Amino acid sequence: MALKKLVAGNWKMHGLSSDLAEIKAIADAASTFPGVDVALCVPAILIERAARAVPNFPIGGQDVHHAEKGAHTGCVSAQMLLDAGASLTIVGHSERRDAQRESDSEVKAKAEAALSCGLSVILCVGESLETRKAGQAVQTVAAQVDASLPDGEGAAAGVPARLAIAYEPIWAIGTGEVASPDDIGEMHAALRARLVAAYGDAGDQVRILYGGSVKAGNAAEIFAVPDVDGALVGGASLKADDFVPIIAAAQPAGAVEAERSIA
Ligand code: PEP
Repeated sequence: MALKKLVAGNWKMHGLSSDLAEIKAIADAASTFPGVDVALCVPAILIERAARAVPNFPIGGQDVHHAEKGAHTGCVSAQMLLDAGASLTIVGHSERRDAQRESDSEVKAKAEAALSCGLSVILCVGESLETRKAGQAVQTVAAQVDASLPDGEGAAAGVPARLAIAYEPIWAIGTGEVASPDDIGEMHAALRARLVAAYGDAGDQVRILYGGSVKAGNAAEIFAVPDVDGALVGGASLKADDFVPIIAAAQPAGAVEAERSIA
């Protein structure tokens, strides 16, 4: 049976107090699609206000430090995210892997720190355009997943249900370019195999999201690809008018696997 889809918005460095009304509009609309898990990952400084504004709606961070506390100026720990009202966090977004030079092992440590605190995690992977053109996309991303995945003992503790992988081709993020359904299907099948290799049967419970210029006009086609269990959405998550149709496209016609929640 299909996994319940997760549609998560990544607000990146967007969001002020004046945008709380938009978050409320998205949360209100999301509640009318019970077959879809919806979340918004907002700037760390907005988490507490957003969580208070929409108490029953999952609000997440966009990054987390791997350490519990200490001399890490400007960083935010998993416990701090929880304390502010977050229930999930993104780790390993390509913008951070690039600008902050985050390695796979660092991303893995961040994911483990967040999961062990009780947060859900969206772990991002994806290839550059050069890598895709060189025909190395699948092997590169599979290796990235192998090296970034939280350790397998978590499988027994229910970690796979709180973990999602977001496949985001770097060349498709914020560009209007979208990977083809065939390329997405090939990559997601490869990622599913890596997850099962890492977690056994529980690897089938990890949702694999697609990210990269998902919009109202292409969401249904992307969600129809096997092993696409949702989307990580940047630009089109900032306004309810753009985001809600994507949520609607993820609402299943038939049955989905029983109760799941990102929160
Ligand atoms: C993202 O920020 O993860 C993303 C996929 O952005 P966009 O949807 O704007 O391409």
